Amino acid sequence: MSKELPVIAIVGRPNVGKSALFNCILRKRISIVHEQSGVTRDRVAAPGEYQGRRFLLVDTGGLGVHHKEKTVDVFDGMIREQVAEVVAEAAVLIWVVNIQDGITTQDEEVADFLRKSGKPVVIAANKGDNANARADAVGLFAALGYEDIVPTSCTHSLGVGDLMETVLRLAPAGEGEAEAVEAAAPPLRVAVVGRPNVGSPPWSIGCWASGG
Ligand code: GDP
Ligand code: MG
Repeated sequence: MSKELPVIAIVGRPNVGKSALFNCILRKRISIVHEQSGVTRDRVAAPGEYQGRRFLLVDTGGLGVHHKEKTVDVFDGMIREQVAEVVAEAAVLIWVVNIQDGITTQDEEVADFLRKSGKPVVIAANKGDNANARADAVGLFAALGYEDIVPTSCTHSLGVGDLMETVLRLAPAGEGEAEAVEAAAPPLRVAVVGRPNVGSPPWSIGCWASGG
């Protein structure tokens, strides 16, 4: 356990852009972004790197599900249980909210859930697609009781660097992080044996960290 990377978990109600943010931080399309809520039913986790710091990023199903355009259960049992497990393991939580909606009833329920966890929380005020919306973020979400509020726009890849700086300031370096850095340098040398021009090998080493 102590050898593992620090876990950063992305939480929040459905449809605020958690999966979009997950992909944006990792610069890869791993988690499914969907207009319909409740799509990320299972946890999705992948290692990530920002300015030399390594972490395990976890995308969670929203704290709540929608069914046929209607919210049937803000705390769907299965998802809630999974989210609780992730939250317990996390070093820091990124709580995604939607600038365009402000604080909703579901956000208030999420707030209760997160407060009880006692974990450090950074609010990503997402869907701040224009400068005016981003300027409103702190005033809009201050009532949630967390001082770290960073406006983001996953659509325009804005604010994600500021967000990660804030998150990693709150995340103690895990033992596994130093190990992962050692393991990564010098780079692995791999001999590819076979005929030339038969295509790329079916695997890739460290591509998640390349920022490509
Ligand atoms: P999740 O349910 O919280 O994981 O939300 P998703 O990542 O699936 O995103 C839900 C919807 O919001 C999708 O249609 C996304 O394209 C959209 N979305 C995500 N981030 C942004 C953003 O920064 N701005 C805007 N305008 N839409 C966004
Ligand atoms: Mg999702």
